[in-house]
Amino acid sequence: MSLKIDPWSFPEPQMDSSAERDAGTSIVLGGGCFWCTEAVYRQIDGVTDVRPGYVGGSAETANYRAVCSGDTNHAEVIQVTFDPARVRLGEILKTFFSIAHDPTQLDRQGGDVGRQYRSAVFYGNEAQRRIAEAYIRQIDAAGLFDAPVVTTLEPLEAFYEAEAYHHDYAARNPDQPYIRAAAAPKVAKIKDAMSRRPAPKHVSPSAFDLSPPPGDVRRRLEATLGTEERNVLLRHGTEAPFCGAFVDQKEAGTYCCRLCGLPLFRATAKFDSGTGWPSFTTPFDEAHLKFIRDRSHGMERVEICCARCDSHQGHVFPDGPPPTGQRYCINSVSLQFAADGAELPDPMQRGEKSLGLAGTGR
Ligand SMILES: [Zn+2]
Repeated sequence: MSLKIDPWSFPEPQMDSSAERDAGTSIVLGGGCFWCTEAVYRQIDGVTDVRPGYVGGSAETANYRAVCSGDTNHAEVIQVTFDPARVRLGEILKTFFSIAHDPTQLDRQGGDVGRQYRSAVFYGNEAQRRIAEAYIRQIDAAGLFDAPVVTTLEPLEAFYEAEAYHHDYAARNPDQPYIRAAAAPKVAKIKDAMSRRPAPKHVSPSAFDLSPPPGDVRRRLEATLGTEERNVLLRHGTEAPFCGAFVDQKEAGTYCCRLCGLPLFRATAKFDSGTGWPSFTTPFDEAHLKFIRDRSHGMERVEICCARCDSHQGHVFPDGPPPTGQRYCINSVSLQFAADGAELPDPMQRGEKSLGLAGTGR
């Protein structure tokens, strides 16, 4: 490999979101032996299908024997299909150029020599062509390889799926010497790159990161809870009515999850329900709550948990006042309060201390 940097520091293509959308969710790539390239893409989270096949020649000769003879214009390729919510086209292309093959080798990959092993992007639409062309320029301009990229851009005319025994070949033949020598090192590289990939963020409409606290962070947060808090938040308990700290509180501000700090209710949505528990008509952001049907104690209720840390908050009932007609009945000990003008709690240090404070009218 003539790549001069680590694969995980390889840049993704610069492309705008409309080009990315127009490019679709499937792309055909030629990077030498399809056993190896398929093995690489099968490691990527969000890649939903990888099919080995042949493109660039006629249907009559689209079979392994004819293609390997080098007498057809086919290339061994893979068709990669992906879920854009989980992996971006940029990562698919980055993997192609940095790990799946060496794009500076002309009409060969290592010991596999011939046009059938050429480096090529078979573009299925104009957006793919433009993105790939710009990316090759970007890679050459950055001098990431010690030789120029020779990848060709060819229009995808027809994709001929390879014979069944080529599918998932590397995984089914791990001890074959060629697989050990050619595919295994690439698979090790992509596994390493995947392990360095930051977990995808799950962000709420009001811009809070809803990914759950990792195990060590959760343990640190839980260690700050008192006995009553543990009983309610972690064991679905209920505090005694009329005793909680926030039952009669009327101050302007935001009520946040006691465990993870996620804002759950605004003080403007609080009302006096007479039940003895803090009650609200509307959540801060519906995505911040998890609703679970609860049939305990012989009742049919809807339990509310924090959508981020899963801690128990209370229940919601359809007997509240306008505007929603809902009554979110919450335990005081499940909450912590941030007065208007003060920072929000951010115990997981996600940079959310002043999120949602501007222009919210709370
Ligand atoms: Zn929480």
